[in-house]
Amino acid sequence: MSELSGKVQTVLGLVDPDQLGRTMTHEHLTMSFECCYFPPPLGDEEVAENPFQMRHMHWLRQNPYSCHENLLLQQETAAVREELLAYRKAGGGTIVENTTTGIDRDLPTLRQLAKDTGVHVVAGAGYYVDCTHTEATKKMSEEKLTDIIVSEVLHGADGTDIRCGVIGEIGTGWPITESEKKVLRASAHAQAQLGCPVIIHPGRNPAAPAEVVRILQEAGGDISKTVMSHLDRTIFDEGELLEFAKLGSYLEYDLFGTEMLNYPYNLEVDMPSDSQRVKTLAFLVKEGYEDKIVVAHDIHTKNRLTKFGGHGYSHILKNIVPKMLMRGISQHQVDKILIDNPKHWLTFK
Ligand SMILES: [Zn+2]
Repeated sequence: MSELSGKVQTVLGLVDPDQLGRTMTHEHLTMSFECCYFPPPLGDEEVAENPFQMRHMHWLRQNPYSCHENLLLQQETAAVREELLAYRKAGGGTIVENTTTGIDRDLPTLRQLAKDTGVHVVAGAGYYVDCTHTEATKKMSEEKLTDIIVSEVLHGADGTDIRCGVIGEIGTGWPITESEKKVLRASAHAQAQLGCPVIIHPGRNPAAPAEVVRILQEAGGDISKTVMSHLDRTIFDEGELLEFAKLGSYLEYDLFGTEMLNYPYNLEVDMPSDSQRVKTLAFLVKEGYEDKIVVAHDIHTKNRLTKFGGHGYSHILKNIVPKMLMRGISQHQVDKILIDNPKHWLTFK
């Protein structure tokens, strides 16, 4: 464990934290999202069968989960390689690739992409949401799950010697299921042993992030080394957001580039625009949380790649950063969000 202390663990081995550079803290380079397929609106079945035409691009942005083909990001490794080279060119250094067990983590591909592009890639240990837990996973004891997660970090995962550098994204829904609670507690135990970073996918309810923090804390987790993902679709009220921020986790806005009218997984939610996301970041900075903000795109479907008319992995660097500067976030604060905060989070204690 002392070997890991003070280092960041990438798929190519340990690196000095100062080498990371600008970091997206929640992305996917290869995965399957078939677990979350959502049937297309009535009458749109034919479009869903053959969506990758210019005239269907708007439909695809509005209904990304209603087309099986669109959910197979793992088929686009060549396009992702190109994207990563563009990301480097745009000033990017590191990507946290937090695909976990249940959505087709592919560590050899991550290692190859890191080698081919020079982008540092940090892989994720642990398990996604309940509907992707196998019967075997559901039957495992907390201790067994802890051992597996620890081993994925110390020795390698999925039968490879490629080691994970972060626990998560650990998937939870709302309400949080028994199996998800067990995985959360195992993640906290593993974090206590390893001093490593953790990242959480909360359920779609404003109360979900705080409930996850409570479970992690009770199991000995280190909230100051934990990222709460997807806040942009979870907590909308400013007062509630500040209440949650007080708990001390990193606050992640990671759906940059996603602008859709009807969010199929929770129709109550009005998915914010990128402008609204930047506004929320400026609010959090003003309230003193500049050391706790991290950002990403959470690319998990094909249509978000530039190959298919999407925004790609460089959208934040190219389009969002100038907007942040225009909305009163200073260059120094931008650098904290993109470089310093991810670095501190990813460094093993
Ligand atoms: Zn994700």
